[in-house]
Amino acid sequence: MLYIHIPFCEKKCGYCAFASVAGARELYRPYCTALLEELSRLPRRQLSTLFFGGGTPTSLPTDLLCELLDFIRQHFSFAEEAEVSMEANPGTVSFESLRRLRLAGVNRISFGVQSFDDDELRVLGRIHNAEEAREAVRMARDAGFDNLSLDLMYGLPDQDTQAFDFSLHCALELHPRHISLYQLTPEEGTPLFTALENGRLTLPGEEDIIAMDSLVNRVTAEAGFEHYETSNYALPGYRCRHNIRYWHNEEWFAAGAAAVSYVQGCRERREENPWHYIEKITAGEDAVVERESLDREASFRETVIMGLRMMEGVDLSELQCRFHLEPRQYYGGVLQKLMEQGLVERTPTHLKLSPAGHSFANIVMAELV
Ligand code: SF4
Repeated sequence: MLYIHIPFCEKKCGYCAFASVAGARELYRPYCTALLEELSRLPRRQLSTLFFGGGTPTSLPTDLLCELLDFIRQHFSFAEEAEVSMEANPGTVSFESLRRLRLAGVNRISFGVQSFDDDELRVLGRIHNAEEAREAVRMARDAGFDNLSLDLMYGLPDQDTQAFDFSLHCALELHPRHISLYQLTPEEGTPLFTALENGRLTLPGEEDIIAMDSLVNRVTAEAGFEHYETSNYALPGYRCRHNIRYWHNEEWFAAGAAAVSYVQGCRERREENPWHYIEKITAGEDAVVERESLDREASFRETVIMGLRMMEGVDLSELQCRFHLEPRQYYGGVLQKLMEQGLVERTPTHLKLSPAGHSFANIVMAELV
């Protein structure tokens, strides 16, 4: 399992607090050279999943992406039926680029669409409009992508349930195999946050959000999607295998600016600034700026918290096998209280959030962290 971070975007969206910089085209080549160097330092092994995230991986010229993919195939090799995912922005792809990526081994593409309303897209500061998003999906299909995911956001400024319903139906009309649905969370320091603070924009109220939540559950279920993780819905056979391993808190390798890896109980976070990342790797140094070794109990708690994001919950026998710990014994009264409040449920095999628990997931996680 390998994650590669591409920290570039064409333009910074108004709500974005992710590790990405806009317009740094002069860094594309040196960044890829540094990535190849960092990748060459990782132990050779077979990958069952590979994920290019960002930023916008498809901001990079396709030649560079293909170079990275070729190197990865040689250095690591792919397991049979390995999942190779790439995040993409509809404003940064062409039929030709998608065809080349598909031929180079990418077999799952995830488009950040966010909305099918052009006014909402403008408010978010996206570089594409709704028609360009539709066209990107059509091109991806023609280029051979069957495993296609769309990201949508809800709870957007001035959005009502009807407007979100429109976007959700537009997304489903494109027949994605997977949908990620995120409620907009204004992040301090972003232009959107400032606009909300100044009262230039307003977010929908709690009742609207509850209505949008239930709309999501109803509409996706009617379309045959399984709700398998807090924000993720998939047709049977199309769950994101890479992210599932992440939610199961399994080991993963990572490379690139801001990338976080988790290997042998040690979490490592890399230099976020791409200029500094390139400098460090080019100088033969390590790009890791933070290293945290998790002991058995800390790993256990993380595995519980990550696993509760999955609708099926955490497998109790797996917890026993990995950590020799049982949640009820470990958490004692804290877990008992959450169960009595109806937020957490225990089945014979799993510990999971109840439907009410999913609505108050942050509170539950804070108790169990
Ligand atoms: S495309 Fe994604 S990563 Fe890039 S600025 Fe927009 S939200 Fe952030």
